[in-house]
Amino acid sequence: MTGLKEIEDKARGLGCKVLKDVPMSLYTSFKIGGPCDLMVSPNSAEALSQLLRMCREMETPVILMGNGTNLLVSDKGIRGVVFRICDGFSELCLKDENTVICGAGVPLSKLCHFASKHSLSGLEFAYGIPGFAGGAVYMNAGAYGGEMKDVVIKTRHIDMDGNIGEFTNDELSLSYRHSVYQENGYAIISLEIGLQKGNREEIKAKMDELMNCRITKQPLDLPSCGSVFKRPVGCYAAALIEECGLKGYTIGGAQVSVKHCGFIVNIGGATCSDVLKLIEHIKAVVKEKTNVELECEVKYIGN
Ligand SMILES: Cc1cc2nc3c(=O)[nH]c(=O)nc-3n(C[C@H](O)[C@H](O)[C@H](O)COP(=O)(O)OP(=O)(O)OC[C@H]3O[C@@H](n4cnc5c(N)ncnc54)[C@H](O)[C@@H]3O)c2cc1C
Repeated sequence: MTGLKEIEDKARGLGCKVLKDVPMSLYTSFKIGGPCDLMVSPNSAEALSQLLRMCREMETPVILMGNGTNLLVSDKGIRGVVFRICDGFSELCLKDENTVICGAGVPLSKLCHFASKHSLSGLEFAYGIPGFAGGAVYMNAGAYGGEMKDVVIKTRHIDMDGNIGEFTNDELSLSYRHSVYQENGYAIISLEIGLQKGNREEIKAKMDELMNCRITKQPLDLPSCGSVFKRPVGCYAAALIEECGLKGYTIGGAQVSVKHCGFIVNIGGATCSDVLKLIEHIKAVVKEKTNVELECEVKYIGN
């Protein structure tokens, strides 16, 4: 792999956290994934800009990640550089009384608490989604009738040449689990979020209510990536999978959750290969029995 040593030296010189040959299973909520050549946690937008430009010049493959809660990483790991957009992008403040500026590395739960502390309503839906703010925009994460599309005013990003730019809500082309970043591959570094003044106690009560729904319905005690499949038009993936008799179906350490059939859980030692085989099996059975083609929501990373 070209350029790895140079990029490692440059990242260290810029004061970024650098790890070599680190197992991705330590950084994904699925607890799955082989080693990545180099993991860099950039400490600033300037450092990320310089490093992305260098990767482009050296033709070194780049993978961006946030909290790793929607990733399925190959057992062979990742060749190239993984940029983990986390602590270096942790800005969280009010721009004005209804607008929050939030770094891409801020956990959604922290963002939701910040909004509720300032009596700002609109983000309650996101409480309990375990990703970071950047990953939430990339995925247009949503739940319980809300989605990032409803609250994002604009984003800042760095393109692969290292240039900083912005997109407004319209330019983000946000739709169900989709944003323009899935096509252009830019690194999201921050977002501006528009909320409404509300009642602090009511906001907190709504967040608690939605968190309780998650605790009751989702297998939060086992490693997973949340819902594996997108919601097909007019029905729910979990209901289809259950109707097809696949509840509890297991391949290796990967199992269709008995609590929520839309989740695949790692019941111990699951490999990426186990999960991929289980996904293919579920898709084939659901297609055969219901004629619905399930599409993955989880992002697979493999070389
Ligand atoms: C228990 C559980 C429950 C969940 N519930 C929900 C739910 O209710 N609704 C929902 O929508 N999702 C849910 N998810 C899935 C996941 O939390 C969301 O998709 C979340 O938005 C992913 O954020 P992340 O920071 O973990 O991103 P990652 O998993 O790290 O990355 C996901 C994708 O985003 C890209 N990406 C991440 N950060 C950046 C960045 N800064 N710049 C550019 N690209 C980036 C990555 O390249 C990757 O393609 C759940 C997951 C789990 C484990």
